[in-house]
Amino acid sequence: MSKVFVSGKLVDKEQATVSVYDHGFLYGDGVFEGIRVYGGKVFLLTEHLDRLYESARAIRLEIPMTKADLAAATNSTVAANGLSDGYVRLVVSRGAGTLGLDPRKTANPQIIIIADTITMYPPETYQQGLKLITASTIRNHPQALSARIKSLNYLNNIMAKIEGTDAGCVEALMLNHKGEVAECTGDNLFIVSRGVLKTPPVDAGILEGITRNAVIRLAREAKIPVAETTLLRHDIYVAEECFLTGTAAEVVPVTSLDGRPIGDGKPGPVTRDLLERFRRLTRS
Ligand code: PMP
Repeated sequence: MSKVFVSGKLVDKEQATVSVYDHGFLYGDGVFEGIRVYGGKVFLLTEHLDRLYESARAIRLEIPMTKADLAAATNSTVAANGLSDGYVRLVVSRGAGTLGLDPRKTANPQIIIIADTITMYPPETYQQGLKLITASTIRNHPQALSARIKSLNYLNNIMAKIEGTDAGCVEALMLNHKGEVAECTGDNLFIVSRGVLKTPPVDAGILEGITRNAVIRLAREAKIPVAETTLLRHDIYVAEECFLTGTAAEVVPVTSLDGRPIGDGKPGPVTRDLLERFRRLTRS
């Protein structure tokens, strides 16, 4: 029976519940993280906790636990579930309140830790690459809700995801309010253009992915030139290579956008090299 951390203790999955008055449920008022477990170790836990606390601070939610205690609780939840390879979902919701929006009328933010298995893209996806379409739904305007906040309100991404699945694609490209490339619904995007690895900057209105940052570090170590720079769809259409990064996806090749093949329509050498380097990092 899997164990979930809720209200400060580990309970059986069936007993792991929160109030229907919780503003996380009523309004998507809360923040979360998705983290991988490789070989029994929580991967890049410090980076994920830093982002969780920043997201919480950005929505003026005080997490009623220190980072060190939350790290310890995460590790014990993974251990209690005997997980060697899997996925951790850390959720902090505003807590139960009234039916109004006012967060001051809520109490007891809930901290939930779920450690479970993960469904990944099948191995063929890494050999053949993904096909993307551009969603008409733009990424949240940064002045409305910063994409840097990993909030419980994912409807913006879900609407774009539906457009993707309707078109037979498992991911969809999202542009920002200026028409520039932002990211995919649950992954960051990279291209290789004239030998340079390029990805949109954080101020393009994207989530600053932990995998994105790890891949940038790996590329720099491998002496691959990297630029965080504004990208237009044109840049993807004419790129040599394209790939996505994310906690679940790791590094996944993209071989077409809007029906146009990227490069020669097969995963490219830089993509394959970075996927290999990333997998080595997860095992180190
Ligand atoms: N962008 C969005 C919108 C995401 O939800 C995610 C996480 N699934 C990412 C990018 C990738 O971030 P990370 O590498 O931290 O998982």
